[in-house]
Amino acid sequence: MIKLIKPYIDYSEVESEFKNIFETGWFTKGQYVEQFKAELRKYFGVKHAFLTTSATTALSLCLKILKIGKGDEVIVSDFSFPATVNVVEDLGAIPVFADVDKKTFNMLPDELEKKITKKTKAVIFVDALGNPSGIHSIKALCNKYQIPLIEDAACAIGSSEQTIKAGNIADLTCFSFHPRKLLTTGEGGAITTNSDVWAETLEIKLNHGAIFHGGKADFVDFGYNYRMSEIQAVMGIKQLEKLDDIVSSRNRMRDQLIPALSPLGFEPQQVKKDVVYNVQSLVFLVPQGTNRDELVGFLRDHGVESTLGTYSLSATTYYREKYQDVQPNAKFLEDYTITLPCYDGVDTERIVKVIKQFYEHA
Ligand SMILES: *Cc1c(COP(=O)(O)O)cnc(C)c1O
Repeated sequence: MIKLIKPYIDYSEVESEFKNIFETGWFTKGQYVEQFKAELRKYFGVKHAFLTTSATTALSLCLKILKIGKGDEVIVSDFSFPATVNVVEDLGAIPVFADVDKKTFNMLPDELEKKITKKTKAVIFVDALGNPSGIHSIKALCNKYQIPLIEDAACAIGSSEQTIKAGNIADLTCFSFHPRKLLTTGEGGAITTNSDVWAETLEIKLNHGAIFHGGKADFVDFGYNYRMSEIQAVMGIKQLEKLDDIVSSRNRMRDQLIPALSPLGFEPQQVKKDVVYNVQSLVFLVPQGTNRDELVGFLRDHGVESTLGTYSLSATTYYREKYQDVQPNAKFLEDYTITLPCYDGVDTERIVKVIKQFYEHA
């Protein structure tokens, strides 16, 4: 079976640090968490980085420090994984779905502007499958209306637009280190910001509401424990070192598969000229008339794992029934996109051969 994704790390890379952690018994709030934070700051060129248990807790915490709650509206990109909107719903706020571009799969500025009201308290832009195309135009709109921009960069570590890395573009950026993403710590996430004020609040909220005076806790607020452990931080450090090489190698695979599949009518997710795309997922629009689910089934039967692109949030059962505001482009993309395996060593010729077989049978 050709799997959809393979982690870019093996045990030998982390062995000596893991041994050190077990010998010292220092499993949390230690040197590796501090090191990973410092290296993320350097990599993104951003002032502050925090490590969390997931992108979900990262996003949730960002909404909490913006004091978003009952009756507030948060505009979200509609083509994403449901965590993007669940964090809004969870706080009693009202999610407002903004439709996306059928080529880049990202939030359309016009759709965003149409949906801004006096109640809009934040915008969550999603780098669909890791592609940040268009984030700067969304940022310009958020600046114009003075609405904080949160970037759900769960998939986008290593991507950039206008030579600025995801992590240093929006007001607050959230990453995921789940095994389905490019850089994994098992579970895990991060938040980055250039705001000293928000950084101070994040630090307190991530530590049960405490500030520390000479090692003594003063609980000045209520808070949470959404912290990453030392073991996880070691995994992150090792992969960050080779992230840019991983991104280049995935782009080479993408450059091989696109010309092989274009003649069959497959259209790749488009990336703007000034964008570096990390190719977190290699996603195509399937040729017209294709039953995507049948294609995914055929590939599985022939040893190739694949899946849909991602979801239209407004079309998931819960949000469709509650808000009845299905976004047509995102729904179209949910139905007609496919993610194919894309990493070093994948037998692209075999993938192309099996896809050709599917169309010969059809
Ligand atoms: C994976 C993903 C999430 C959730 O990440 P977790 O770390 O599993 O919480 C959120 N948003 C997007 C766009 C994702 O792809």
